[in-house]
Amino acid sequence: PGKDTGCAGCGVKLQSTNKEQAGYIPASALERTPTICQRCFRIKNYNDASSIAIDQDDFLRLLGGIASTDSLVVHIVDIFDFEGSVISGLQRFVGNNPVLLVVNKIDLLPRAVNHNRLRNWVQQQAKEQGLRTVEVVLCSAKRNIGFDRVVDAIEYYRRGRDVYVVGATNVGKSTLINRIIHDYSDLDAELTTSRYPGTTLDAVHIPLDDGKAIIDTPGIVYNHRMTEIVPRSVLQAITPDKPIKPLVYQLDEGQSMFVGALARFDFVSGEHQSFTLYLSNGLDVHRTKLERADELYANHKGKLLSPPSVEELEELPAWTRHSLRIPRGGGYDVFVSGLGWMHANSMAGAVVDVYAPKGIKVHVRRALI
Ligand code: GDP
Repeated sequence: PGKDTGCAGCGVKLQSTNKEQAGYIPASALERTPTICQRCFRIKNYNDASSIAIDQDDFLRLLGGIASTDSLVVHIVDIFDFEGSVISGLQRFVGNNPVLLVVNKIDLLPRAVNHNRLRNWVQQQAKEQGLRTVEVVLCSAKRNIGFDRVVDAIEYYRRGRDVYVVGATNVGKSTLINRIIHDYSDLDAELTTSRYPGTTLDAVHIPLDDGKAIIDTPGIVYNHRMTEIVPRSVLQAITPDKPIKPLVYQLDEGQSMFVGALARFDFVSGEHQSFTLYLSNGLDVHRTKLERADELYANHKGKLLSPPSVEELEELPAWTRHSLRIPRGGGYDVFVSGLGWMHANSMAGAVVDVYAPKGIKVHVRRALI
């Protein structure tokens, strides 16, 4: 047994270097028989399907395979990073198969948020992405909100077919699938793994009563999300795990705000107004005059302005500036993928500059809340 023979469970090539990639096996486990990868080991012994991550090309090849099946596609997105986690172009790849959009982590939004409004917002955004969805379901896999509707909708729309579950990394796909395994699947039935056509990736099949299966796909990695490019300690700091407490700042033009050393908002011009930040509650926001902002950053990045630390900053891409115009009329957010968003409360519009690590998705959108 060993690396050369591949995983005895799914056949994937074994490796001991990257935990997040397919075929990972701790070096210490190479001698165990049968030699199976960490993922198959967990599935076999704990019924625990954990997602592996793959890059965009592999993922698109895999999605292309779904088009030739007759199935229901369940696309899971993260409401805290909607535009970052939605798979653009999904419609092209799944062909005529229906797409059920499951919006996870709604527990992170303030409790007063109206769910009908939220669903409409999601529907509108999905439409702009060219995605036709049979239904939008809001849920929290972690806090068990809306889960019954997720299961009912899957049952209703699959009409006796297989179900493919697709999503970006970290949207809660594993949490949701594990819930399905524990709550709704026949635990005596064997979980099986098989190869995706044309790839070296293994798929986990969760058997359903009628001989069909729920098929877990690897999570796609998008480097336009802050959550994908920061080290683990910073990931913890930027990922909220409780309902977000919005922070309101009254600003005059010519003022700046730093979110640690992760992003910077400059209020370049516009009338005095308030902005509401939706961020993980642990993050520190520092306000200063725009004319002093460069100097503050140069002297205090990684220290007063953190996370990230000085060392972690060196691993991140340098900032780029996004010059944005918030239109008149009100009802807009400035969105930074993976970090959160800033709601502009005035009807008068504003001109802002946003600095964020190069490659991170930053834009103005219709307000979520
Ligand atoms: P996957 O990469 O898509 O399989 O995502 P995971 O299931 O591993 O979850 C990623 C992270 O999101 C973990 O830290 C989970 O605890 C967290 N998470 C999953 N579902 C929810 C949810 O409904 N609400 C919140 N707040 N966090 C969640």
